[in-house]
Amino acid sequence: MQKEIILNNQKIPYTFRKSRRSRCMRLTIKTDATLVVSVPWLLSGKKAEDFIMQKADWILGKIKHFQNKESSLPSATRKDYLKYKNLAREIVEKKLKYFNEFYGFSYNRVFIRNQKTRWGSCSKVGNLNFSYRIIYLSEKLCNYIIVHELCHLGEFNHSQDFWDLVAKTVPEYKKIRKEIKGM
Ligand SMILES: [Zn+2]
Repeated sequence: MQKEIILNNQKIPYTFRKSRRSRCMRLTIKTDATLVVSVPWLLSGKKAEDFIMQKADWILGKIKHFQNKESSLPSATRKDYLKYKNLAREIVEKKLKYFNEFYGFSYNRVFIRNQKTRWGSCSKVGNLNFSYRIIYLSEKLCNYIIVHELCHLGEFNHSQDFWDLVAKTVPEYKKIRKEIKGM
């Protein structure tokens, strides 16, 4: 349920969730600077609001932190894409070569695209696509994206066999996936 609250004269929207499992209230600020409030099933909305008020400074601080982070990320314009796509290609091809020495798959063409919603994909005919935005990722996350698409050449699905392939070069893939999903 979407709600709003006024904290220090600022209107803060938040997602309000009632949970049958949780025993205490929980405030989460997601990386996109949105607030989620989870409360135990029987707790009143009023109690939850009091709790949010008490934590106002912490909440506003966190929201500001993530908003700044967001705006310090290079704005993904077409100009940026044109400027960085060659760099992205260099990185992608180098990493593909490196990891494929282990896997030995054969791939067709490699495309660097200006994609916002996906880091990479693999087509049925063995073309690999990557968003130029991977240049903004840490090495660890970037390696994972490369290995993920590479392994689709072996397993064109997300079965356990696929993940076992990924784990051969990125054993901590589960943790990395969580990180990427939170981005
Ligand atoms: Zn996949």
